[in-house]
Amino acid sequence: MTETAVYDAERVQAWKQELAAAPYRSYLYSYPHKTAYRPFDTPKPLADLWRREPAESFFLYMHIPFCGARCGFCNLFTLPDKREDVHKRYVDALERQAREWAGFASRPFARFAIGGGTPTLLRADQLTRLFEIAEGIMGLNPAEASISVETSPETVDAERLRILKQRGVDRVSMGIQSFIETEAAAIYRPQKPDEVRRALELLGSFDFPLLNLDLIYGLPGQTLETWLYSLEQALAYEPGEIFLYPLYTREHTILKPGDVQAAGPEDLRWSMYAAACERLAERGYEQFSMRRFARRDAAGYSPDKTLLAYGCQEEGMMGLGCGARSYTRDVHYASRYGVSRKATESIIADYVAAERHDTADYGFVLNADEQRRRFVLKGILHSEGLNLAEYGQRFGSEAFDDLPELRLLLDSGLGRIENGVLRMGREGLGYSDAIGDWLISEPVRRRMTEFVLP
Ligand code: SF4
Repeated sequence: MTETAVYDAERVQAWKQELAAAPYRSYLYSYPHKTAYRPFDTPKPLADLWRREPAESFFLYMHIPFCGARCGFCNLFTLPDKREDVHKRYVDALERQAREWAGFASRPFARFAIGGGTPTLLRADQLTRLFEIAEGIMGLNPAEASISVETSPETVDAERLRILKQRGVDRVSMGIQSFIETEAAAIYRPQKPDEVRRALELLGSFDFPLLNLDLIYGLPGQTLETWLYSLEQALAYEPGEIFLYPLYTREHTILKPGDVQAAGPEDLRWSMYAAACERLAERGYEQFSMRRFARRDAAGYSPDKTLLAYGCQEEGMMGLGCGARSYTRDVHYASRYGVSRKATESIIADYVAAERHDTADYGFVLNADEQRRRFVLKGILHSEGLNLAEYGQRFGSEAFDDLPELRLLLDSGLGRIENGVLRMGREGLGYSDAIGDWLISEPVRRRMTEFVLP
């Protein structure tokens, strides 16, 4: 593979201009996107799917689809519902599902995550049950798996954090989004900065190996100055990791496109991203993707554990709970997706009432082309990059033969090959949501376009 230009300069220039004109197209946190999922013609027995899964260790995920209220930008599968009896019935169902799935967990778990939604909205005894299910039923060994839990400022308290600490949680992740009260209010998070600071101080006193904080740029009313203020406020708590999200609005989000601080000729999100990258680099944070920055010393963040290896391609992921996705190498599956109150309520009610969870009836079958695209996307959208030899070993072909358009990354200077790894720098990673979108296959794009969100 040489780096001699293949595309002519005009074509490269036009392609880069397309990226710059619309950098925020779609957030591909996993490929294919869940809007490409469809009912399977015939339900697939999970025993068969998991028997042939080649991953050497698995990832256990539990989804808790409840929040106090829906944030203005959120299109995740979650229901604003604080009722304890509803939560308990849901955890009962999750336990029943785990009892059926335990037999499919034929590999040790290298990672365990509880996400949502807001898992710490659950009462302490229900939160404890999740760990009991993971360890007692699914066979998780907390001494060899990294464990991550999502939380929110208003649900963090000492009782819940004590449970997380006792259960060997390594990483606690908290969504803050902004330290400015009016900015938080504008995204329907009635969140006082003092409440956020209380939560952060409490979290600090428990000294988890890794604290992750989430912030959003492009909020209504946000300026470059207030954005950097929020970033500095977050950095004062010395998080090992920080995720910076550009604000998106989508179908069924409360916020609408005009609410993003992007009106006018210049999309402010790009300058906010660039300024944050600078600031974080000065403060010793390394960029791992468009959104993820971490301190080097936080990279291996489980000092008391000998962790099992887990492939970065995120296969072998068992997702328990309604709204969780599961990934085997060639089949991704989940419960149905919805965002509106009516849809999430009815999908959760079906889950709680279900007698069996031993087949997959909704998802996506990845043929060879889609598996290749997934592998490429997972590589190039992260700083680890795409290892070309590993690609060749896995697929028996060359990445640049299968996807010749990848040459545009090289010809444009957004990507480089170093030691056999195709890797993008800050500018290229900043275009992740356009480059990811550009690499979506036609069949997947058609399904995404045709998807009707209930
Ligand atoms: S962004 Fe997080 S806290 Fe807000 S509604 Fe969505 S899942 Fe809940």
